Amino acid sequence: MNDAGLDIARIRADFPLLARDVNGKPLVYLDNANTSQKPAVVIDAVEHFYRSTNANVARAVHTLGAEATAAYEGARDRLARFINAPSRDEVILTSGTTQAINLVAYSFALPRLAPGDEILVTRMEHHANIVPWQLVAGRSGAKVVPAPISEAGELLIDEFVARLSPRVKLAAVTHVSNVLGTVNPVAQLARECRRHGVPLLIDGSQAAPHLGIDVRALGCDFYALTGHKLFGPTGTGLLWAKRAHLEAMPPFFGGGEMIRDVRFEGTTFAEPPHRFEAGTPNIAGFVGLGAAIDYVGSIGIERIAARERALLAHAQAALEGIPGLRFFGEVPGKAPVISFLVDGAHAHDLATLLDHEGIAVRSGHHCAHPLMQFYGVPATLRASLAFYNTHEEIDRFVAALVRVRKLLG
Ligand code: PMP
Repeated sequence: MNDAGLDIARIRADFPLLARDVNGKPLVYLDNANTSQKPAVVIDAVEHFYRSTNANVARAVHTLGAEATAAYEGARDRLARFINAPSRDEVILTSGTTQAINLVAYSFALPRLAPGDEILVTRMEHHANIVPWQLVAGRSGAKVVPAPISEAGELLIDEFVARLSPRVKLAAVTHVSNVLGTVNPVAQLARECRRHGVPLLIDGSQAAPHLGIDVRALGCDFYALTGHKLFGPTGTGLLWAKRAHLEAMPPFFGGGEMIRDVRFEGTTFAEPPHRFEAGTPNIAGFVGLGAAIDYVGSIGIERIAARERALLAHAQAALEGIPGLRFFGEVPGKAPVISFLVDGAHAHDLATLLDHEGIAVRSGHHCAHPLMQFYGVPATLRASLAFYNTHEEIDRFVAALVRVRKLLG
């Protein structure tokens, strides 16, 4: 079946790793929310960079230095277009979402926090969008307040808005939950935050591979995303922030290439984005991420989303036919992530047995302890899909789940 008019056989051929066997069986990779596989164009771009262009950026006048800088800055241009940023200078290249959020925590939030202040998050956040806020709250006497969710895994908007008091100095919300798949109404949240004068950060780590992102339309203040979930190399990501915020933010990391003038009497700093990019960045990684953005663009995020909706519907229907499953995250329109538990079987045992069948799913708390506490479970099993997965793979996964469950029963 070629959902969304995509030639899936051709697309799968773009991803060399998908052709491998695992434990003697053809791989079924359903851990895409953890990290995605990489198309050959990305692998080739990284290799080509090291074979033909490698040099440091923004330092040398020689030809390789100029080419490396153009390639690296070209990735920034592509990323700026990908998220519809008003300016490329508002895009900070980071090692990922974790670094992006920490940058905002230490550079934007910490100087503004006083005892009694609050940072508003939600119950469904990844630890990367909780712990950095706790660290700066601990230094300033502020506290991190979670907005509640429903049993189905939906953010309770009225409860979120009710917590937007003058004490709240920043709100930080995931665009898409890595456990539940819930797509939060972030444009609406941004409107509410603006109405209350609260800056809003959106964790787009799980959104970028599935949704078109338009930071102008969203109306948020900060947006973070992860390159390695977006078919790019590990150690890449970005922070987008409104120019006024970036201009007011002191640097977080100090070092080379983020300064204007260094003297022992005092140092002045470069303008954003370079003020926030101390040291040698992951140049080859960003060249790869630039290729990933081009690749996604060549398919079209709308077609990717349509294909994933079809795969998700198939997987949900097939799993719902199995008795004794408990699902986490049942909000309509969710991203292609299915978290569940099977009566009488541990998630880790199931994941191990599925691996013997060549099927990669994740078991565990998914870096979301407070969400696990909400549901009263230590772990879930999570199957997360990408557009390159197939209906046959879903059938294999569901059949294997039924089989391995019997082994444990
Ligand atoms: N936020 C969410 C919702 C995530 O799923 C992840 C990755 N598991 C992160 C943040 C961390 O992203 P990174 O790997 O880019 O640091």
